[in-house]
Amino acid sequence: MYELFNSVAFREATLQFERASRLLTEDDGLVERFKLPQRTLVVSCPVRMDDGTVKVFGGYRVQHNQTLGPYKGGIRYHPDVDMGEVAALAMNMTWKCGLAELPFGGAKGGVAVDPRTLSHDELERLTRRYTAEILPIIGPTKDIPAPDLGTNPQIMAWIMDTYSMAQGYTVPTVVTGKPVIIGGSLGREEATGYGVAYVTEDALRRFKRYSDPVKVVIQGFGNVGSYTAHKLNDMGIKVVAVNDVYGGIYNPNGLPVDELMRTVREKGKVDDYAGGDKVTNDELLTLECDVLIPAALGRVINKDNAPRLRCGMVVEGANGPTTAEADDILRERNILVIPDILANAGGLIVSYFEWVQGLQEYYWSREAVHDELKKRMKNTFIRVADYAEKENIPMRLAALMLGISRVSQAKKLRGLYP
Ligand code: NAD
Repeated sequence: MYELFNSVAFREATLQFERASRLLTEDDGLVERFKLPQRTLVVSCPVRMDDGTVKVFGGYRVQHNQTLGPYKGGIRYHPDVDMGEVAALAMNMTWKCGLAELPFGGAKGGVAVDPRTLSHDELERLTRRYTAEILPIIGPTKDIPAPDLGTNPQIMAWIMDTYSMAQGYTVPTVVTGKPVIIGGSLGREEATGYGVAYVTEDALRRFKRYSDPVKVVIQGFGNVGSYTAHKLNDMGIKVVAVNDVYGGIYNPNGLPVDELMRTVREKGKVDDYAGGDKVTNDELLTLECDVLIPAALGRVINKDNAPRLRCGMVVEGANGPTTAEADDILRERNILVIPDILANAGGLIVSYFEWVQGLQEYYWSREAVHDELKKRMKNTFIRVADYAEKENIPMRLAALMLGISRVSQAKKLRGLYP
């Protein structure tokens, strides 16, 4: 059955999972079970384009494991989306939920589309049709989607509306990451980026790998990248280079992050900002810095560029930005990697708060959300760093082992159905 999910991303996720399970000496049956998702739905979504033609987009919803609770995971709109990649991301969501000690299982969804090529109306029609196709398997107690690469709160609002229309009443808890006015949580939008910044601060402090002043480079300036930059800037940490799909800018004295966010909001691109030197996307990854934060796509740090990175540590804002081969090279080069399931768990944690608030119909202040997020991120960081130190293993392996063992303990208690 593995060949169904044949893709580099799926092989990578499985390899990392096997490495961690081996050290945990997990039961073979359990390992086999966890290597495959529980349920995979493949859909085709016909959409009427503005010019009257009809285009068909392929989409997926993969539910990896629901041992700890309802499935939870983002929906990605990107041209490279395929079933293997979505399954890999779903698997890692399961370990991320376990590591963060949340009552959710892992899932992921995606549509193979470049959202930048669609008009607002086409994007809405695609989202509503995709939602209608996956509707039988999602719901507040079944599977709760959220934003990911290429999707945003507006798209979550359309999913929530489509689902609610089918039920005949309003169901805010079917998605998280929706706009605040329709039941979203204050603090959700910035949660992933803020979480990445908290973990970066903790890692710098604990491992003492920095120059003065600390210099950070961020790949990707969307939701995760921009809010990471914003929070680091607040903490007095210099962000010296950022980019997006179009190109990047660099200033060794630090970039004015808030002004940059305004430029991107108003004009659309990082390099529309007039200050700083231009850098290509390849150059950016190998700039000299203390911390490199990939916050865009998967597998961008690979065997070709890993030998050339000039940073003290990599903090993974994106999902799966480092290939297994690159991971080994970075370890040999003594470059520390703070893994995705730890570093970018902030969005998942506040999604949990959003779901809880929606179920209770009682909403928290932004401060309460931020405080609780910070506390949980810092606690999770300490658990992973302590475990890695105690077992003398890399942080990625430690994070995976903590996440996997929580799910497998629960699975053993629940037993095998029937
Ligand atoms: P986004 O769509 O808001 O932003 C993505 C950014 O990456 C954009 O600035 C885009 O221009 C840039 N980009 C795309 N291709 C690039 C390239 N080749 N080189 C440089 N930049 C490029 O997406 P996001 O929500 O910020 O997600 C980014 C990553 O973080 C993804 O891997 C996603 O899975 C992960 N993530 C997101 C969340 C969340 O809450 N949004 C949570 C956890 C993990």
